[in-house]
Amino acid sequence: MKKGYKIKLVIILMLVITLNLSSGVVKALNLDNTKENFIICIDPGHQEKGDSKGEPIAPGSSQKKPRVSSGTAGVATKKPEYVVNLEASQKLKTLLENKGYKVVMTRETHNVNISNAERAQFANDKNANLVIRIHCDGINDSGKTGASILIPSKTGKHTTAIYEESNVYGNIMKKHLEECGIKVNGVFERGDMTGFNWSKVPVVILEMGFMSNWNEDKMLCDENYQQKLMEVVANSVDEYRIKCNEDKNIE
Ligand SMILES: [Zn+2]
Repeated sequence: MKKGYKIKLVIILMLVITLNLSSGVVKALNLDNTKENFIICIDPGHQEKGDSKGEPIAPGSSQKKPRVSSGTAGVATKKPEYVVNLEASQKLKTLLENKGYKVVMTRETHNVNISNAERAQFANDKNANLVIRIHCDGINDSGKTGASILIPSKTGKHTTAIYEESNVYGNIMKKHLEECGIKVNGVFERGDMTGFNWSKVPVVILEMGFMSNWNEDKMLCDENYQQKLMEVVANSVDEYRIKCNEDKNIE
């Protein structure tokens, strides 16, 4: 073989190796949604004292809603919703951290004043992969029971970009809850929620059940039931992360 050919061959070989290596690196980067890089923001709904001062329902909106309310309370237990929400959220935090996820919390005490927009901006600043907002329902109908999942509106001016992923996670959660025998009323789009409209990252609210129903209130305040619910939520995160990685790989 002539010397010139040898050099050319070496250059071609080097090029092939370099290209293969770099495509491998790109692939690895795409798959780099590792658990320790996957940030979950947990927002335990409400706080000890509501703040009725208005804040814009969405960026640039003239429509205002109270910064944050104090939530509902148990018809049987008399327990405030904000207490149940934090109890469940702390269980979820432990479960997710034990799985290896990075978890950030909007609050870990009751005596705070963080508005719904501020909670959304907190998650935006943390670059969260997913926000899980934990709430309980209360309604003027003591017969109503079951969990509900709320997601941002598909057609909302500020939420179109986060709809798809929020919807994917919401439906994964619904499936897992139902598999565990927990009644789910549905996955509902909401365009009127400040905490959704300010969010730049996928977000869902889990309304764990109705504190206005005697039995469900007692269940929601039960440590074991909270643990069962939060295990479902945490396992749903696993499936969601895998789904996100698959979607990235397709691109
Ligand atoms: Zn609530």
